[in-house]
Amino acid sequence: MNSDLELLLKLQVIDYDLGELERSKDYLPDMMENLQREVDDAKQKVINTASALEEAKVTQKNLELEIQTREAELQKFQQQMMAIKTNKEYDALVAEIDNIKSAITTAYVELETVEVTNKQLDKDIVESREKELSTVENNQKQLAVLQEKVDSIGDKVAAKREARQSVASSISKPLISTYERVRKGRGGRAVVMVKKKACNSCFKALTPHRIQEIKRTDKVLVCEFCGCLLYWDPEESP
Ligand SMILES: [Zn+2]
Repeated sequence: MNSDLELLLKLQVIDYDLGELERSKDYLPDMMENLQREVDDAKQKVINTASALEEAKVTQKNLELEIQTREAELQKFQQQMMAIKTNKEYDALVAEIDNIKSAITTAYVELETVEVTNKQLDKDIVESREKELSTVENNQKQLAVLQEKVDSIGDKVAAKREARQSVASSISKPLISTYERVRKGRGGRAVVMVKKKACNSCFKALTPHRIQEIKRTDKVLVCEFCGCLLYWDPEESP
């Protein structure tokens, strides 16, 4: 291959890496934010479940107390039944007893529901604590790796720039400026291979004469349609 093209391909790889490093300045913090949010969510879930469980336990306790109180009242009224003198008193007491019995039934139904909720929350709290532990463990590991990457971006960029400088210094100025111009216009890719007898950037077919010229490799040729710098790779191109 033409040595200028080889250098330009090297430059293109370095420029790609530099672009990736620049992009990572955005996406690494995003990834870290997501991981941190997962940890926060898992912790919040434990807090919410614990407070729901506590609330349900208080409700259960209150219902149990209410049932106790109502049952004591019921007993008292049933004893008063023995001492009833008039029909009017009797009717009033029966109505009172009916009310208390229905209140007790309602409280038992509510108690049953709360007990089911409590059992579920007991399971939920165990699960959410396990989830919290595993999320914290996993995400903290990943966060440490990502933090290291973030911290090393500056050094990596500096190293790549140095490597770029050393490659670029061996390429002629006009060729570099062609490369830069095409790179800007073609989304970062300026040097492309001929594939299936076409430019592998704009995919327009090249004439046999043009292909022969590119194969000769004595100078760098551009695609007449998109301006990309073309090279011939005997292993990949046919
Ligand atoms: Zn082209």
